[in-house]
Amino acid sequence: MIQKMAIEELDRLGEEIIGGLRLSDDNLRALLSLESEEEVQKLYDAARKVRDHHFGNRVFLNCFIYFSTYCKNRCAFCYYNCKNDIERYRLTREEIRETCKVLKGAGFHMIDLTMGEDPYYYDDPDRFVELVRTVKEELGLPIMISPGVMDNATLLKAREKGANFFALYQETYDRDLYEKLRVGQSFEGRVSARRFAKEQGYCIEDGLLTGIGNDIESTVKSLRGMEANNPDMVRVMTFLPQEGTPLEGYQEKSKLSELKIIAVLRLMFPKCLIPASLDLEGIDGMVHRLNAGANIVTSILPPDSQLEGVANYDRGLEERDRDIKSVIKRLEIMGMEPAPQADFERVLGC
Ligand code: SF4
Repeated sequence: MIQKMAIEELDRLGEEIIGGLRLSDDNLRALLSLESEEEVQKLYDAARKVRDHHFGNRVFLNCFIYFSTYCKNRCAFCYYNCKNDIERYRLTREEIRETCKVLKGAGFHMIDLTMGEDPYYYDDPDRFVELVRTVKEELGLPIMISPGVMDNATLLKAREKGANFFALYQETYDRDLYEKLRVGQSFEGRVSARRFAKEQGYCIEDGLLTGIGNDIESTVKSLRGMEANNPDMVRVMTFLPQEGTPLEGYQEKSKLSELKIIAVLRLMFPKCLIPASLDLEGIDGMVHRLNAGANIVTSILPPDSQLEGVANYDRGLEERDRDIKSVIKRLEIMGMEPAPQADFERVLGC
């Protein structure tokens, strides 16, 4: 049976985490099972207190460039899986260079270069390394790479050319669920790629998918699985059913919300970057996620971009509210502001 956490304990939680308290598995279960409005608000209050202690009112801004939507994999939850008959694109190096020109001086702290496991790059990974070099040359900013399970030699070369962050989401550390989600892909291969990158001086990001059959027990297992990798950024995203995929008609029964998990992540990983993604609910959703303890806004698209996000709540909408100016305007209304670049370099340990 899950032990309840008393309101007074929730009131003290933020201070205690700042003072060095580590949450037990029972604590995690108790927090993830909170339901009343009052309790859940107290959880968010605690998470914000911890976030503000370490980062003040300063937020980081991550630019998302999804440069190839081709992929050789069949993840059951993903719109871009190779079985889905959709329109795809792959930007040329020149198009990426042009995108960088638009981004100069825009105020981003990091550029996230994301692709599916595109055979064009997997057959000749030096093409990918060259792309990292190009973006570094154009912008001189920290670079996150999200290329899937790249081989070690390519990860090393990309690091030499200026990649700082390696994002690779396990989605779940519950192996049965993993096999249903990341169909035909090695669980250990993902863990090892992330571990290798960390050893080679990358910062690493790991991530969970929620709303996809994960109950409290499997979520605790996943949180502990992420913790074992000593990550620098930890994310959770809600599964959004995608047209044309095996899980198109899936309906979730669990009440485990992304916001609750964000708050728990902040309490478990007080100094980590935790994303407030625009990909699911745009800028209104960013506000909720920041209020739950997040501190880096992700999936901000280059100005006037036609590029894709990942879950893409706004697919097909004419107005896309995903630009950096709108984000900064809303941060100001919240009493928050973009952090100086030097703060971000400190997080990276540069
Ligand atoms: S989640 Fe990534 S690896 Fe899986 S199908 Fe989608 S793009 Fe490919």
